[in-house]
Amino acid sequence: MQVDGNVALVTGGGSGLGAATARHLAAQGAKVAVLDFNIEGAQTVAKEIGGVAVQADVSDEAAISAAFDEAVEKLGKAPRIVVSCAGVGMAARIVGREGKLSFDVFEKTLKVNLFGTYNVMSHAARRMAEMEPLNHGERGVVINTASVAWQDGQLGQAAYPASKGAIASMCLPAAREFAQTGIRVMAIAPGLFHTPMMEGLPEDVAAKITANIPFPSRLGEPHEFALLAEQIVENPFLNGTTIRLDGAVRLPPR
Ligand code: NAD
Repeated sequence: MQVDGNVALVTGGGSGLGAATARHLAAQGAKVAVLDFNIEGAQTVAKEIGGVAVQADVSDEAAISAAFDEAVEKLGKAPRIVVSCAGVGMAARIVGREGKLSFDVFEKTLKVNLFGTYNVMSHAARRMAEMEPLNHGERGVVINTASVAWQDGQLGQAAYPASKGAIASMCLPAAREFAQTGIRVMAIAPGLFHTPMMEGLPEDVAAKITANIPFPSRLGEPHEFALLAEQIVENPFLNGTTIRLDGAVRLPPR
């Protein structure tokens, strides 16, 4: 499917990987709805690319349904390209100091990263299924964001890899389910990228992280994530799997 001339909706589009994806898809000719909980970030990106900003919490079913309605109303067509980048990265040991448990962190992480991604994917697929098919029966593409932590979860991070592992695992059954309606589902598992999520780290910690990245030995640039999203949209044979985008990094235990 071509990016040019289609409508895209990007969650987490107000920052980092989502913002880069929204910018890139717009530069390739898509009309883009920039969805974010943080409306200021979404508005800044939307203004820059001639798109529309939509505020919603991805984990809120009614809000996401309304957000799709708003995007369709403002852009004239339902999105055939939906990229989920909204996510949170929280760390906590399962059993912390003095026996402190971290069920709250687990619950919040799963709620945003996993339930939010599932929620957006379900609304996206339902609307795509109602659209006319394009060439070769294709109706749309859903791209979800996992993380290399899906396979290389580090100490103190059980919740985050659990949420991202589930995103990777549901890719195939979702692609199988939506095959009859011509909707593809893919996931990208980024390594370590240069986004606000990483910018908060102290310099020595960041240096230690990049030293572990074989080549190129630096953080990934958000536009490199966006390039892969574009290729997934345009390559009709990519379906039902998760691609690591990581400069060959394998995260150490801690
Ligand atoms: P970021 O913090 O720069 O951007 C995330 C955006 O998601 C923010 O604008 C935030 O407001 C939005 N958001 C958070 N919770 C939301 C909610 N409930 N509803 C709607 N919007 C919400 O982060 P990023 O680095 O661009 O990460 C994007 C995605 O990539 C995340 O899913 C993250 O887990 C994943 N990822 C990032 C890296 C990295 O190195 N940056 C590595 C692996 C995976």
